[in-house]
Amino acid sequence: MSESNASWKIQLVECIHFLHQQGWAPATSSNYSFRIPGESTLTISSSGKDKGTFSVEDLMVVDLQGQPVNDSRKPSAETLLHTLIYQRNPEVTCILHTHSVYNTVLSQVYQEEGHLRLTGFELMKGLSGVKTHESTVDLPIFPNSQDMPQLSEDIALYWDEHPALKGFLLAGHGLYTWGKSIAEAKRHIEVFEFLFDCFYKIKTLGQVADPRPSLSDNFQNRLS
Ligand SMILES: [Zn+2]
Repeated sequence: MSESNASWKIQLVECIHFLHQQGWAPATSSNYSFRIPGESTLTISSSGKDKGTFSVEDLMVVDLQGQPVNDSRKPSAETLLHTLIYQRNPEVTCILHTHSVYNTVLSQVYQEEGHLRLTGFELMKGLSGVKTHESTVDLPIFPNSQDMPQLSEDIALYWDEHPALKGFLLAGHGLYTWGKSIAEAKRHIEVFEFLFDCFYKIKTLGQVADPRPSLSDNFQNRLS
């Protein structure tokens, strides 16, 4: 194992523990990978491991078709989505996937619309390529499926038409995003999860009538 491979593994495992601590990767859910630039393999989480106790030994190597390299373990069930992302964007070196409450609920509720539209938030500038809060980022929502070849094909078709894709949601399931480094991918996850939290709360507040009397009501009461 090269020095750099070992340090990438440690960095990814630290990131997984962080995401678990946030409550965004409960139990054995979610999956993670990195690909060192120039290598023809990727390192991905093996299937069914608890993310709170996940260790470097729980990572395994697969080729760019998702087949294990010298390993009898099963890689994550969603390995094909990782290989698709690396093939589509050669600059990507890390892919993170979370199952938070907010991304699960919002992707379910907004499934019919086909995307979650994020706009007007200062923190959007934490996404690479976004320079102002006046931008709009559409996160597509794909119907959830256990048929990974079909799901990969749907995502690939969307990507053809939206080359600036920064991530996607699977309905009632979770978020995928990525970056040019583990740190950038982690930043993108944190930004998206923060924005989902804001989005949800704004929608919730917007739908509840404010029970406090307005200033003009108080004024009217004093007059009467
Ligand atoms: Zn998942």
